[in-house]
Amino acid sequence: MQAESKNIGVHQAAVSRLDKHRRSIDEIDATLLDLINKRLSQAKEIGKIKENHRAPIRDNVRESEILERLMAINEGCLLSKTSLLQIFSDIVAASRDIQEPAASHPRGKEVPCVYVVMGSPIAHSLSPIMHNMAFRATQFNGVYIALEVKDISSAMAGLRNLHFKGASITIPHKVSVIEYLDDIDSTALNIKAVNTIIENNGRLVGFNTDCDGAVRALSEKTSISGKKIAIIGAGGAARAIAYGIKSEKGSVTILNRSRDKGEQLARDLELNFRPLSECRHVKCEVVINATPVGMTPYVDDMPVPGDFLKKDMVVMDAVYSPLKTRLLKTAENIGCVTVDGISMFVFQGAKQFELWTGLDAPLEIMKMAVITALEQKS
Ligand code: NAP
Repeated sequence: MQAESKNIGVHQAAVSRLDKHRRSIDEIDATLLDLINKRLSQAKEIGKIKENHRAPIRDNVRESEILERLMAINEGCLLSKTSLLQIFSDIVAASRDIQEPAASHPRGKEVPCVYVVMGSPIAHSLSPIMHNMAFRATQFNGVYIALEVKDISSAMAGLRNLHFKGASITIPHKVSVIEYLDDIDSTALNIKAVNTIIENNGRLVGFNTDCDGAVRALSEKTSISGKKIAIIGAGGAARAIAYGIKSEKGSVTILNRSRDKGEQLARDLELNFRPLSECRHVKCEVVINATPVGMTPYVDDMPVPGDFLKKDMVVMDAVYSPLKTRLLKTAENIGCVTVDGISMFVFQGAKQFELWTGLDAPLEIMKMAVITALEQKS
């Protein structure tokens, strides 16, 4: 009997502690709501000034600066970076909404447009994080999911019948998916690989955005026209990168481990070829790794020997996990300009977003979402 009343006492004490914390949370929520409404009223005033000066409502630079500043203030606090990005991109979007409701809802459909990345393995994919954050930041009514796909034929039938609005295609289906499409864009056709599908009036159309992503990432750091550029690898990524660089008038040499595959790519796109083992004989100003060498968990591997790199080179890696591969670290240490795989990944994703939605991609927010997710994984 005594033990029972003691238990009841302990229970009541716990309940009253719980109540105290919950009351506190209720007060904080009310304060938060009040603060958010105060923020919205400031945004409304800004909206009026913008309207008077015919300035655009959306300011991507300002929006990403807000998020970056908050991430820095939040360093070491309880709120995870991903949650911070989600919460504040919603608040920023609500502020934009109050300034110009129609512009904030470009596609006000009630049923969301569904997009998917299909590949195998797929669990590690950062595409859902990147695209869902982009949908959120632009208030586009879309949802992006990842599906482990081994049989691309049935997956494409599913895509069609379930009326997905688009898809990303990744390893190992970028080539085999082509036969299930109704149409293919000329760049993807020349590369012979598709990483993006758009549903257009019931027709599935294939594109390749890796090509555009690589060119934009490299162009941020160097001009391409007239440059001697060595691309290591002869798979899907190398194909897309080589095609993009050739279109920008760069002079490409393929360095590949297996001769037959490397020569095939060089023949297809009219490029030079050298076996990877002979890389020291190749003179170049830019080196791009388009093999998985150096990727997590094999982070100590490098696709070329360290002494192949020279300090005036630009060195780019398509591998984005880890963010700084051993190749990029070595290149940085000897003074090379470097381009990481995240830049290419985000630019190719931005192009997908633009093809699917017709909106400008919120590039900085997409990049923050991907880097944050990568940091949390490592
Ligand atoms: P893939 O089609 O399988 O091609 C792999 C290439 O790498 C082949 O040419 C292969 O040479 C070579 N290779 C593989 N292991 C090697 C090793 N140990 N030493 C030397 N060469 C080796 O792959 P992929 O689709 O082109 O992808 C390549 C990498 O790019 C992956 O890490 C992928 O994640 C990355 N990627 C990044 C982005 C981005 O947006 N950042 C986009 C696409 C791909 P052999 O011909 O001799 O087998």
